[in-house]
Amino acid sequence: MIRQFTSNTFKSLHLIRKGLLRNFSVKMSDSERKHFILPNSQPIVNLECMQAFQKLTETEKSYAHYFSKASWYGGLVALIQSSPEAPLIFSLFNGMFTTESVESLRTACKENVSEEEFTSFLVYCCGFLSNAGNYKGFGDSKILPGIDVSKMELIVKKSQFFQKDPSKVEELWNKVKEPLFSLTDDNKSLGLKGHGITTYFSSNCTKEDADLVGEWMKTKKFEAYICRTFKTVDESGKAHYEVRLASSETGDKDGLTLPEEEWNGSFFKITRGDYSALLAKVANELKLANNFSANPNQKNMIDEYVKSFEQGSLDAHKEGSRYWIKDIGPVVETYIGFIETYRDPVGARGEFEGFVACVNKEMSLKFQTLVNQAVEYIKLLPWPKAYEKDSYLKPDFTSLDVLTFAGSGVPAGINIPNYDEIRQSEGFKNVSLGNVLASVNKTDPIPFLTEEDQALMKQYKATSFEVQVGLHELLGHGSGKLFRIEENGSFNFDKDTVINPLTNGPITSWYEPGETYDSKFKAMGSSYEECRAEAVGLYLSLNREILNVFGHTDKAEQDNIIYVNWLLLLYNGGGLATEMWNPTTKQWGQAHSQARFVIMKVMLEAGIFEIKETVPGKDLSITLHRDKIETVGRDAIANFLLKLQVYKSTGDYESAHAMYEKYSKVDEDGPHPFAKWREIVLLNKKPRLILVQANTEIDADNKVQLKTYDANFDGYIQSWSERYNDSSEIRSILENIYEADKHHFM
Ligand code: ZN
Repeated sequence: MIRQFTSNTFKSLHLIRKGLLRNFSVKMSDSERKHFILPNSQPIVNLECMQAFQKLTETEKSYAHYFSKASWYGGLVALIQSSPEAPLIFSLFNGMFTTESVESLRTACKENVSEEEFTSFLVYCCGFLSNAGNYKGFGDSKILPGIDVSKMELIVKKSQFFQKDPSKVEELWNKVKEPLFSLTDDNKSLGLKGHGITTYFSSNCTKEDADLVGEWMKTKKFEAYICRTFKTVDESGKAHYEVRLASSETGDKDGLTLPEEEWNGSFFKITRGDYSALLAKVANELKLANNFSANPNQKNMIDEYVKSFEQGSLDAHKEGSRYWIKDIGPVVETYIGFIETYRDPVGARGEFEGFVACVNKEMSLKFQTLVNQAVEYIKLLPWPKAYEKDSYLKPDFTSLDVLTFAGSGVPAGINIPNYDEIRQSEGFKNVSLGNVLASVNKTDPIPFLTEEDQALMKQYKATSFEVQVGLHELLGHGSGKLFRIEENGSFNFDKDTVINPLTNGPITSWYEPGETYDSKFKAMGSSYEECRAEAVGLYLSLNREILNVFGHTDKAEQDNIIYVNWLLLLYNGGGLATEMWNPTTKQWGQAHSQARFVIMKVMLEAGIFEIKETVPGKDLSITLHRDKIETVGRDAIANFLLKLQVYKSTGDYESAHAMYEKYSKVDEDGPHPFAKWREIVLLNKKPRLILVQANTEIDADNKVQLKTYDANFDGYIQSWSERYNDSSEIRSILENIYEADKHHFM
């Protein structure tokens, strides 16, 4: 797989960040507050999916439309899961921007608010919407507006939303303004009482409460994915815990809810009906989507999701997930529910997310051509024929373009379901989200590169990446043979004639019966294999015939694609990868980052790549010698690939390990002190891109159309104001949920 961030990476990174935040005592000075403000230079780009969407049939479009609507309604649940005030802030912004356009409000504010201040306000709105609340979906820290409270109040009061119903909007504003601007040690990040803000537990719950509830749940064999916990204390000082399931139905139901019982001196009960009105909408849209499902498997899957969201049944969601993993390679891929548990302070409660993605048929067609020619192209790889499989096996690979991703962030790849019992015995899906990976920020400078390289990167990144992904997945992971001895003592290679090209001697090691690549290469295995696949991509991208397959026939264009493909990988390896290296444990946390770092070190050694510290402690410069790529570069990558493959084929873990560890080492000093440069890498890190997503709507002819928006703050806000056609109803749902539960968060 080729992914920037997998869901597991999110998890590890998230934990690292949480650790960092905990040791970081924030004083509430203006300069400290700045760390919580998104800059006006916040990058924002379009999540391009028009091409993929237009290739869908009418039925597929309808399925995608209703599933998207279900996802967006469910995405509002993530607001409620973010902070107590988030649903109200959403309600305020939604009211403002469904009543008038951004431009109209801008004009109304012109006399009293500077252009820069108004932009800060828009950046805050966009940051809030894209993170499903006022806490970062990636990193958990609070997001503050870059303008002061009086200016924001002025903007609110200039809005037509306010003018239409001043007393109601004033009341709303008065409820949100304090929490919206407040920054204290207790609310600067997500966490339990004393460590932050959460809505997964009432604000009187400490770690001890959470542990106690966890233990009680264990006695009931009850998993927390779809619940929240609220504690009240009675007059005698005893704790009563309400474990509330997410469901549209309310009231008791056998097998799901439990009446209050005493356990270890406290009281516990399971109720249901959390987010009831929103989940009713989710279920309703899913039923509509099911009229257009592609096969019985999908139909059963949706039936189970509906049952789960209506009744509050986690088992039904697991059943739905079982159908989902069996629905292999659908044209429209989806998933929905309480999925990732990063944002629950105790990591057990799932945050709502829903997505809809389309198979990129265009890209799939190119990949199909590549697969058809694979046998020929594999012969080009720098190892003897005997090291290649007897027949080419097409690896499992899906590249999708995201149409809708609702929740607190958009990942570039996913690996779900998260339910252990399903993953281990029944399977999971690995999906690369192509248009997320290819999203390129074309306006902001790229650190460490010359102006010329930056321009080339911006122009060719998406194209080069497509080539690299195809080669990586199909000819990288798809190539190479493992030498093994069978139970009966026979070999799957000719032991008498096959030689080891590194020693020119005979083959002396192989896989014994029962041994696999993973069991032999252990913890290093996944990164080593990613490295092999990436190196295959670099090597074969030099082949002009292959570039023709991807539709790049112009020589000058090919030259640029090759250059940018190599530069991108080495840039990621040298300029970004160390973020994923932990300076305390000296371990790599991410297989792909380590793999790219290793290849970068190989190229550094070969002398075609340079990285230098230009401003001490602040800036680096990265140079790839273009004229050496097809000579020195080609030889270096060929030699390296040969070693990677021979060690893998012969199961020679010791040699592989020695080589891989050498290149993986993050030097503390010397000419390339990457450990020290890691600080510079972090310093130059850009804010996460905000991706403008399209909406689907049904036109007068009953056909589903895709509506796209400008890739700027105005366009992003417009996409949100046109997302729901029942805005006032949604606002009252969110406000009612806030009112009903606010006493738990006082
Ligand atoms: Zn891979």
